[in-house]
Amino acid sequence: MFTGRTKNLGILGWPVEHSLSPAMQNAALQKAGLDYVYVALPVQPKHLGDAVAGLRHMGFAGWNVTIPHKSEILPLLDDVHEDARVIGAVNTVVRSGEKLIGYNTDVAGFLAGLEAAGCTAEGKHAVMLGAGGAARAVLWGLCKSRVSDIVVGVRNPQKAQTLADDFRGYGRISVLHWADNVFAEALSQAELLINTTPIGMYPKVDDMPPVELKRLPKSALVYDIIYTPEKTKLLQEAERLGHPIVNGEPMLVGQGAEAFRLWTGVQPDEALMRRILREGLV
Ligand code: NAP
Repeated sequence: MFTGRTKNLGILGWPVEHSLSPAMQNAALQKAGLDYVYVALPVQPKHLGDAVAGLRHMGFAGWNVTIPHKSEILPLLDDVHEDARVIGAVNTVVRSGEKLIGYNTDVAGFLAGLEAAGCTAEGKHAVMLGAGGAARAVLWGLCKSRVSDIVVGVRNPQKAQTLADDFRGYGRISVLHWADNVFAEALSQAELLINTTPIGMYPKVDDMPPVELKRLPKSALVYDIIYTPEKTKLLQEAERLGHPIVNGEPMLVGQGAEAFRLWTGVQPDEALMRRILREGLV
C-alpha cells in the first residue's frame, strides 16, 4: 500500500504511454519490498524546465529520462556522471540530498549484454553499425572496455564523423560507408559486430543491415541491440552461420537494473524484470 512515506520514481518523456519501465520497475520494487512507486511522467519538450523544477520541489527520489529529453535535461541538473557527460545524454536522474545527479545506465546495460554472451571486449576488433543515440552509449562502453579499435559502418559517413570526433582521444575509431571495400576488410578481421541501427526492428522484421556476414570470422559475436523481435533477421542469419549471438534484451533490462541500484542501493530481481519486459514486448 502507498502511504505518505512512499518515495516517488518515474519516467520522464514524450510520449511515454508505450513505456514498459513502470511495469518492470514496480514489479522489481514490490519484489524487493521497497516503499517506492514508479509512474509515467509525460512532459512536452517546452515544459521540461518547469517539470524538472517540479520534480525537484516535490522531492522525487529519481526518475528515468527518455526521448526527447535525454540531452536537453543536462543543463537542468546539478551534476552529471562521467558516462552521461561523455555520451551527452542522461537516462537516469538520482536525488542525492538537495542535488539532482544525471547518469547514463545504457552503458552498463550494453556491457550487461556482452556479459550475458560471455564476451569481453578488451583488446578486440569491433565493428559497429549505425551512429545514432544508442551508438554513443555502445561506443563509450567499448572504449571503457579497452577494445583494440572500432570501425563504425554507416550509410552516411559525413554525418557519422561527428560521433567519431566526439570520442576522439578515448579510442581508435574510424567511420566508413558500409558498402566500402575497406569496411568489408574490417568485417573480415572483426571479433565483435554490433548493430545499433533500427534495421530489422518490428514491424520491418524482414530487413537486415546491408553487411556481408559471410566475411565475418565464425567466432565473432553478433550483438543486435534491437529487442523487438527477440531474434532479428541479422541474428537469425548470424546464428545460421554459426556465430554466437545476443539481442538487446539484456541491455534493456541491464539499464533498468542499474537505475534501480542507483536509486535504492538494492540489487533488483533481474529475471523478474526480464520476464515482465518480455510479456510486454512484441
Ligand atoms: P537513432 O538515434 O535514430 O539512430 C539510428 C542510426 O541508425 C543512425 O545512425 C541512422 O543513420 C541509422 N539508420 C536508421 N535507419 C536506417 C536505414 N534504413 N538504413 C541505414 N541506416 C539507418 O536511433 P537510436 O535511438 O540510436 O536507436 C537505434 C536502435 O537501437 C533502435 O532499434 C532502438 O530500439 C535500439 N535501442 C535499444 C536499446 C536497448 O536497451 N536494447 C537502447 C536504445 C536503443 P542516419 O543518421 O543516416 O539516419
